[in-house]
Amino acid sequence: MCGFISVYAPDGHDVLEEILDGLLAIQHRGQDAAGVVTWDGDKFHAKKGLGLVREVFSKKHAGRLKGHLGVGHVRYPTVGVGDDIDVQPFWIDFPVGVAMAHNGNVSNFQDLKNKWFPERNVRLASDCDLEAVLYVFARSLFDQQNQAKANGGSRTSAQVTPGDVWSAVREVFATVKGAYSVVGMIAGHGMFAFRDPFGIKPIIMGERTTAEGTSYAVASESVVLDLSGYTGQRDLKAGEAIWIDSKQVVHSEVVGDKPHRPCIFEHVYFARPDSLLDNISVYKTRLRLGDAMAKAWQATGIDVDVVIPVPESARSAAQSMAQALGVPCREGLVKNRYVGRTFIMANTKERRHSVRRKLNPIRLEFEGKRVLLLDDSIVRGNTARELVRMAREKGAKKVYLASYSPPLLHPCPYGIDMSTKREFIARNHSTESLAAELGCDFLLYQDLADMVECAQQGNPMIDRFCTACFDGNYPTGDITGDLLDSIEEERTRARV
Ligand code: AMP
Repeated sequence: MCGFISVYAPDGHDVLEEILDGLLAIQHRGQDAAGVVTWDGDKFHAKKGLGLVREVFSKKHAGRLKGHLGVGHVRYPTVGVGDDIDVQPFWIDFPVGVAMAHNGNVSNFQDLKNKWFPERNVRLASDCDLEAVLYVFARSLFDQQNQAKANGGSRTSAQVTPGDVWSAVREVFATVKGAYSVVGMIAGHGMFAFRDPFGIKPIIMGERTTAEGTSYAVASESVVLDLSGYTGQRDLKAGEAIWIDSKQVVHSEVVGDKPHRPCIFEHVYFARPDSLLDNISVYKTRLRLGDAMAKAWQATGIDVDVVIPVPESARSAAQSMAQALGVPCREGLVKNRYVGRTFIMANTKERRHSVRRKLNPIRLEFEGKRVLLLDDSIVRGNTARELVRMAREKGAKKVYLASYSPPLLHPCPYGIDMSTKREFIARNHSTESLAAELGCDFLLYQDLADMVECAQQGNPMIDRFCTACFDGNYPTGDITGDLLDSIEEERTRARV
């Protein structure tokens, strides 16, 4: 998963500051690299690098990254080995000037890179799957412009019509498989955005009018738009493309024809609680997930004295769960926010140590108590195992564990960094044996149907979510065992 923002301001207004503010707001979606490309009416300006937004950008870039159109990106790599060369946004000046950033994953990237592109005399320079989207899109635009010229019409390459953009997006959908939402700009012409045919990845557009004119922004999460005062917000539909032309006229078209299946894991873990995704409040969903867990817990008949969330994501659900159970919710684990994510540490020993560095227990909240630890999910089980151990060390009388999402069992080929099945501890265990493995006195998972209902209540128009990581139902219908194996191989290689 990654995060992006693109901004199209009235002529003469630089967008860099707003883009950087936006990237800071979605830094949680990727801390590995950051980049911005702007367009000043004449050329692209770019700055990209490894690290957090505040590490990559400094004051001096404000003078250089001029322009009233721009695209920014924060990266969490799902493909590629974390090289600078893979940092987004990408841009090309030939055959047409296009800059682009995406969130998601191209599931047939290896095929495209090793076969499809070489057959067309194109060599992809990076390991970043966005390059595949970029070339297919740019090539299609170029071909259409040539075609228009060949047909003897009055059109020149100085024109890009909405139809050109829709055709280019159609061609991307036909060639590049997977789930990706994309923002970008065509040099001298305008800004575009599109959402994958099943709308798996989030993407939202906003509009802001001031005395200086109207600005448009498109971002991964609504929180980015809120921050900069974009009011007229709307999520892109599944398969929808947007084109904002050189006169700032907004065009839109649903290019895809698939049912909407937004990723449920965004609500469970990724997105900020203060975001709305497809009009569903992430915060409210997590509160409902906590309520549902409380009901399920009550059915076990096990009494607890306190609910302790694993920060940050489990906080909201822990509050509602504790309230429904009639017990206190306590911040018994204090997070050191300056320690990097445990999940992305290279090996298991490092990850375990890092859990302790990152989460410190307050003895008085554990001592002599029957403690229920609530987390959003259990992936490899390292966090849970270590926390149970720590709770016992601090004198807990009983240590119970609950995950407000069901067991993670299936790799995600759509951009969530869980693409190797070896990683899922739940694959090899029943819930009882997993409880023993993690060392807790009882383990409870959320029920899949309950989880879906909690999200759906926020927007009943969404009749299904992508729940593939829990139930193996891949909405795109093209995910084979071989493909999952090859993605797994790629991920494993990238981590070595
Ligand atoms: P683990 O220790 O491997 O079981 O990881 C579980 C923890 O990782 C949970 O506390 C989650 O909040 C977090 N988590 C879940 N999914 C992801 C993900 N795709 N990337 C990073 N962290 C995650």
